Amino acid sequence: MRVLDGSERPYVDLDSAATTSAAVSVARAVHEFGPWYSSVHRGAGMRSRVASARYEEARHTVLDFVGADARTHVAIFPRNTTEALNILAFRLRLAPDDVVLTTAVEHHANLLPWRRHARLRTVDVTAEGTFTVEDVVAGLDASPRPQVLALTGASNVTGWVPPLAEIAAAARQRGVLVVVDGAQLAPHRPVDMTALGVDVLALSGHKLYAPYGAGALVAPRELFAGGEPLLVGGGAVSAVSFDDVVWADGPEREEAGSPNVLGVVALAAATQDVLAQGWSAVVAHDRELTWALDAELAAVPGLVRYGPGPSADRLPIAVFNLPGMSDSLLAARLSYEFGIGVRNGCFCAHPYVGRLLSLDDADVRRYHDDVRAGRRDRVPGAVRAS
Ligand code: PLP
Repeated sequence: MRVLDGSERPYVDLDSAATTSAAVSVARAVHEFGPWYSSVHRGAGMRSRVASARYEEARHTVLDFVGADARTHVAIFPRNTTEALNILAFRLRLAPDDVVLTTAVEHHANLLPWRRHARLRTVDVTAEGTFTVEDVVAGLDASPRPQVLALTGASNVTGWVPPLAEIAAAARQRGVLVVVDGAQLAPHRPVDMTALGVDVLALSGHKLYAPYGAGALVAPRELFAGGEPLLVGGGAVSAVSFDDVVWADGPEREEAGSPNVLGVVALAAATQDVLAQGWSAVVAHDRELTWALDAELAAVPGLVRYGPGPSADRLPIAVFNLPGMSDSLLAARLSYEFGIGVRNGCFCAHPYVGRLLSLDDADVRRYHDDVRAGRRDRVPGAVRAS
């Protein structure tokens, strides 16, 4: 690949936690579907019927991928995890005083939608960026009891994988709805909702080798029975008059507007591809990548790593700084001088990065003031290789 200085040399993409290229099988599935591309659920023509059938089939494929039963669960196709969690937070019809228990590890996608609709209680992290099952249980048992636990399956900053099954069991024992942000976990580990004891799962196709603009929200059917959707318009309705509307039944109600059938075909193909690789092969490969990443970073003099130590369960993601150099300069130098693509900044997880960098409240207030004043370069951050 030609890098920006015009030379031909290998480009190393260490930014798959941000987004992934299309798997060959996914690109092929999209290409093969091309002749059938047409409007879903809106036409009697052959192409439209085939496209609609493929779209509906994809719901089953995604449900299978996440170990959910089509009789009890629904698969909705939003654009991505962010949209999925916004839809869910809106549809749960929480009261402003209801409590959602979340954690300091979360991506903004699993923080801000909840903050808009309810009161947040946050499980804090250690300096290494982790918490224990007991920490979550303390949050579950505090009064008033939370309605929802909103937890990431894996951190996009440190790659840390919290003990999901144990936490989910504790929450469900207490009647708390378990919502998992599966954006990072889904490409790397089995996300079997039944085995993990998870009620609702959100994921993004573009992190799962299906960068065609579709994600998934899988939830118990009863959560979406009745009520108005977040987005309103064509497709979400069965009948509309000047003063009345009958909402569509099932997932269509949450999918106003022309569905992204190419994205959904890609997402279904991606889930099949991952399953065909086999989880044990995926996990073993990830482990090798993690070892290689850790060994290379350990050899860099002065490099400061953040996040949990080697014994923690982690995806192949590492976050670090080089003292004396800003994260943005380090990322730029890696790209321009070495052809290595990384990400830098706060990774849409500002509270978590603040904890990892040991920022105190005054530091946070100061950089918020800087940002408001347009001094964005003052925001502290780190570099992530994934
Ligand atoms: N949650 C996690 C853990 C993520 O890593 C990301 C994306 O980086 C998101 C949620 C949001 O995903 P999207 O931007 O596809 O909505």
